[in-house]
Amino acid sequence: MTTAKRVGLASVVLISLGASAAYYATTMAVRGYEVHTRTLGYLVLGLIAALTCLILVVFWRNVHRTVTGISTQLEQMADKRQIGLLMIDGSDELTQITGPLNRFLTVIRDEFGRIQSENRELQIQSRISGAEKKHTEAIVFSISDAVIVTNRFDEMILANKAAEKLMGFNLKHSLRKNIDHVIHDGTLVRLIRETRSSGYTMTSTATHGDRKPRFTRKVVEHTIDQKGQPSTFNATLSCVMTPEGKVSGVVAVLHDVTREKEISQMKTDFVSSVSHELRTPLSSIKAYVEMLLDGEATDEKTQREFHEIIAGEADRLSRLIENILNISRIESGVVRVVREPMSLTETVRQTLDVAAPQAKIKNITLIDRLVPVYHQIEADRDMIYQAVLNLTSNAIKYTPVGGTVTVSTSVDERRGVAVCEVTDTGVGIGSEELPHIFDKFYRVQGHTKMAKGTGLGLTLVKHIIESVHDGKLSVTSETDRGSTFSFELPIMK
Ligand code: ADP
Repeated sequence: MTTAKRVGLASVVLISLGASAAYYATTMAVRGYEVHTRTLGYLVLGLIAALTCLILVVFWRNVHRTVTGISTQLEQMADKRQIGLLMIDGSDELTQITGPLNRFLTVIRDEFGRIQSENRELQIQSRISGAEKKHTEAIVFSISDAVIVTNRFDEMILANKAAEKLMGFNLKHSLRKNIDHVIHDGTLVRLIRETRSSGYTMTSTATHGDRKPRFTRKVVEHTIDQKGQPSTFNATLSCVMTPEGKVSGVVAVLHDVTREKEISQMKTDFVSSVSHELRTPLSSIKAYVEMLLDGEATDEKTQREFHEIIAGEADRLSRLIENILNISRIESGVVRVVREPMSLTETVRQTLDVAAPQAKIKNITLIDRLVPVYHQIEADRDMIYQAVLNLTSNAIKYTPVGGTVTVSTSVDERRGVAVCEVTDTGVGIGSEELPHIFDKFYRVQGHTKMAKGTGLGLTLVKHIIESVHDGKLSVTSETDRGSTFSFELPIMK
């Protein structure tokens, strides 16, 4: 029997006894019994009431203790954020309460545990996604090509500095904005839109029958004006797909190919110029050799003349090839440069000795104004010799008979440079031609009859002075009055 039932039964018995005592006492009083007999009845009644109260108090205390125990344990669980089981000593009814309560707590604990582990999993996933996002952004930001990423609503969601600079937008203010309002290049906006809408097609692979998204990837040549200069870009546009194979956006990568195109054009021009330049002396050699073989040079004088022409053309061919090789070695960086302390004056003096006979033939006065050798430069002696010889030989070539060529060296201590100047009183170069004379194979139209040449000498000089020795080559010229070519190189401290 449970405590409540027992207490109930005892209370009922006591209340019945009390009621009987009360009835007895009242009946005694009515029937005129002695006062003490009535008093006894009231005493029994009082005793029974007191006993009933005592039993109720004990019962209430039991219940109170148990309820306090339960709430204390629940409070502790709440404080520790740990769901455990209730441990209650006591009567059967309370055990009956704690049973379901504990079952309920177990369910909550299991659910709580599950939610906690799911939460942990989500936190890990979120951290991984955050790290991956940062990683992807770092990759995108480190790319030198312009990268723009849009979502399926054609809104900008990512772009790098190169794209900001090229398109003139600010990423911070452009995020989640439609590309219409961000990119002021109608063609690019159209390309991004087209790529997104043409998206992909689901295809079945023959072997497994899996349905796989086929990515659309377009590469188009696109011209963008940069500060008034048109630049050519290879725009690669690809769709970003969800795992379900839906288009979630577009990635546009713009690679500047302006320089590559220029180089490719230069290469094509170079090859065609080289072939043309090689063919001219070769055809000449071939023609004179055939004439000799056909016996067209009957006398010794003509034969000698033909031989000299062939030798001259062969020389030209070899100069041409030598110059081409030197230029391409310097341009490709495979040239061997032997830098050593040397005197510019000394090297210029040597070249003048070599050029003197050429000047004498044309009755040209060759004047030298060379400073004494105090300062040294650190340079490749052979290359500097070749540069000075080319400039002096040009000055003689393009100066009519009886003219003057002056070669001087000086030192500008303030700027720390040694200077070499070659001045002639020759035909000069027109202002329209002047910017081109360092280009490969460029020859001033009117000068071709005056002297033979390859159009490579000045290109080589510029490479030797500027690319190899970090010096500076410059020219001033006036038609029919003459030219001055000068270069400067740093002196050794
Ligand atoms: P080239 O073998 O034709 O002399 P260069 O590269 O040395 O080739 O020179 C390029 C062109 O520059 C020459 O063809 C010539 O027209 C012009 N040039 C070079 N030096 C002089 C000069 N001192 N006076 C006038 N024109 C010159």
